[in-house]
Amino acid sequence: MKVVLLGPPGAGKGTQAKRLEEQRGLKQLSTGDMLRAAVAAGTALGRQAKKVMESGRLVRDDLIVAMIAERIKEPDCAKGFVLDGFPRTVQQAEALDAMLKESGKGGIDRVIELAVDEPALIQRIAGRFACSKCGTGYHDKFKQTKTAGVCDCCGSTEFVRRPDDRAEAVAVRLEAYRKQTAPILPYYRARGLLKTVDGMASAEDVAHQIDQVLDEG
Ligand code: AMP
Repeated sequence: MKVVLLGPPGAGKGTQAKRLEEQRGLKQLSTGDMLRAAVAAGTALGRQAKKVMESGRLVRDDLIVAMIAERIKEPDCAKGFVLDGFPRTVQQAEALDAMLKESGKGGIDRVIELAVDEPALIQRIAGRFACSKCGTGYHDKFKQTKTAGVCDCCGSTEFVRRPDDRAEAVAVRLEAYRKQTAPILPYYRARGLLKTVDGMASAEDVAHQIDQVLDEG
């Protein structure tokens, strides 16, 4: 099954995509994570993307499309995947359709929008941090570590905050979502693929709503 999760930054796409990978074996494909890995590794792509990402703007469509086109050919995507953070423009959505058509493996099965309101997003993003070793995500207010300063999953004591979670970059990211990404919603609605779930509910409830969408015939 091939699934797209749509929603603004902080909507919970990453949390839900990770869960779908663990529970259903659908590979989580997060373009944000791939780009951050490229930046950390200092590749040509990472060098091109770094400043744009820090500002909160979107990286060029051709770079992103080439990155995803290569990634979905890998064997770990054969059972299906969840796209998290891609597509982000109508051009990317069209390129995705074209690459899936070319691969002969069938198109996207479901597109799920996590609907959330903006003030809540800003609060969610402002407090988030992650373990620098295993990547587990936490929040100053909503999901603290069980022991202060120690990762619940791997015991590491080092944590990171994303540079683009600063207030100015968050404002730019939300604007990019409204202007460049939201137009994808009618694109998928017109194709009968779009379902919207209430992203303001608890993570467990959102998971339940997503499972219902994936399991319906
Ligand atoms: P994310 O982790 O999904 O919030 O992405 C972090 C940043 O990576 C975004 O603000 C963009 O600068 C860049 N990025 C991630 N995915 C895409 C995409 N599909 N198209 C363009 N830029 C992207």
